[in-house]
Amino acid sequence: MRIAIAGAGIGGLLTALSLEAAGFDDIGVYERSAEIRGLGVGINLLPHAVRELTELGIVDDIAAHAVRPTSLAYFNAFGQSIWSEPRGTAAGYRWPQLSVHRGRLQLVLRDLVRERLGEVIRTDHRLVDVRSGADAAGRALARFATGRGAQEVAADVVIGADGIHSALRAQHYPAEGAPPSNGLTLWRGVARAAPFLDGRTMIMAGDGELKFVAYPLGPVEADGRMPINFIAERREAGGASRAAEWNRAVPVEPIAERFADWRFDWLDVPALIRSADEILEYPMVDRDALPRWTFGNATLLGDAAHAMYPNGSNGASQAVLDARTLAHRLATAATPEEGLAAYEAERRPATTALHAQTRGTGPERVMLLAAERAPQGFAHIHEVIAPEELEDIAAGYKRAAGFHPESLNARSSLTVRG
Ligand SMILES: Cc1cc2nc3c(=O)[nH]c(=O)nc-3n(C[C@H](O)[C@H](O)[C@H](O)COP(=O)(O)OP(=O)(O)OC[C@H]3O[C@@H](n4cnc5c(N)ncnc54)[C@H](O)[C@@H]3O)c2cc1C
Repeated sequence: MRIAIAGAGIGGLLTALSLEAAGFDDIGVYERSAEIRGLGVGINLLPHAVRELTELGIVDDIAAHAVRPTSLAYFNAFGQSIWSEPRGTAAGYRWPQLSVHRGRLQLVLRDLVRERLGEVIRTDHRLVDVRSGADAAGRALARFATGRGAQEVAADVVIGADGIHSALRAQHYPAEGAPPSNGLTLWRGVARAAPFLDGRTMIMAGDGELKFVAYPLGPVEADGRMPINFIAERREAGGASRAAEWNRAVPVEPIAERFADWRFDWLDVPALIRSADEILEYPMVDRDALPRWTFGNATLLGDAAHAMYPNGSNGASQAVLDARTLAHRLATAATPEEGLAAYEAERRPATTALHAQTRGTGPERVMLLAAERAPQGFAHIHEVIAPEELEDIAAGYKRAAGFHPESLNARSSLTVRG
C-alpha cells in the first residue's frame, strides 16, 4: 500500500515512523519548506505520548535532548503558591513527561525517518489538493506545487499532517478562513538563566489577563545556567488580528516591561525575559472542531485535524497519539477505508472533547479563582480556596481530558505485533 504524508512536522514524521513500525514500506513524506530547519521553542510530551515513543523504540533518542519535569506549580501574580502537583512518573504514570525544544525534536525525528525508512522525505513539495479515487486504479492523486512546477503523486492513502493552515482541510472546509483567536497574545522564548525552585518544575503564574509560564529545557551547564523555556501571555487589543505565523520575532524590551513588577523571591521574570536571544510572537489561535476528517482515501492528522490552544500542553502529544492510532488501525483493518474510518472514530471524539477543555479554563482555573477571590494576594491559599476544591479542579481536568494515570497505565498497546 502506498501512503503519502503531507507535512514533515512532528505529526507527519511520527506518522511515517509509526507506519513503518506497523509493517508499511511504501511511504512518502512531502514537506512544503525547502529544508527542515528545526524551528520553534519548547514543547511538552505528556506521559500518554511518551508511552507511544517508548513503544516505537525512539524515546531514548528524544530523552537525550529533553528534561523530565517532576512537578507543575501554579502561582498568583505576586509569586505566591496556589497549587502544585507531581508530573510524569512522580504522578503515578509508568512513563515520564518530557520537555524538549520543538526544533530539536523535529530534527531527531527527521534523522530517525532517514535511518529507518531511507530518503523518503521530499522537501519543497507544498500540497495543493487531493482528488480521491482519481487514478485508473482508484487511488488518490495528491497535487503538489514545487520549485520545478506541479507534481502529482498517486497513493492509496493520503494523510494531511500539514499543520494549522492545512491545505487538505481548506479543500474540504473552504469557508473556514483564518484560525480564530481568543484575544490573547503569546510571546515565546528560550532564556539562559540559573535554575529556579528545584530546577525540574514547570511554573504558571498570573491570571486571565497576564500570565507567565516557564520550564527548564536542558541540563545545568558549566556556567551554572540552564536553558529555560517561557511563554508570556497577555490579553491585548489588536492581538487577535495578527496572522498565526510561528516565527515572527519581536523586540524583547517591551515584553519584559509588561512584567516589570514580577520580581518574585524565587524568580525574576523581567530578567529572565531579557536574557532570551529572541522572542517570537503568536496569537492564541485554534481551529473549530470538525464534523469529519476523512474524505475518500484522504484524512487529517495533528494540528490539521484539531489545532488547539496550548492550555494543558497537549498539541504535540495529540499528534503522537493520532500517528500511532492511524498506523495501528490501517495495519489491522481489512481495507484502507475501514482503517481510516476506525482511526477517525477513535481520535475525532477524543480530541473534540479535549479541544472543548482547552477553550474552557482547564486546570488553570485555580489561578483565576485565586485572582478573583484575593486580588491583592493572600497569606495562605487555603484561606481563599479550600484544599478539596483545588484537588477537584486538577483531577476533574485529567479525567475529562482522558489522561488519568490509571486509564493510561491500563490501556492496551497500539503496537502492531508482527
Ligand atoms: C515552524 C513551527 C514552529 C512551531 N513552534 C512551536 C512552539 O514553539 N511551541 C509549540 O507548542 N508548538 C509549536 N509549533 C506547533 C506544533 O509543532 C504543533 O502544534 C504540534 O506539534 C502538532 O504537529 P503537526 O505536525 O500537526 O503540525 P506542525 O508541527 O505545525 O507541522 C506541520 C508541517 O506541515 C508543513 N506544511 C504546511 N503546509 C503544508 C503543505 N501545504 N504541504 C506540505 N507541507 C505543509 C509545515 O511546514 C510543517 O512542517 C510550531 C509549528 C511550526 C510549523
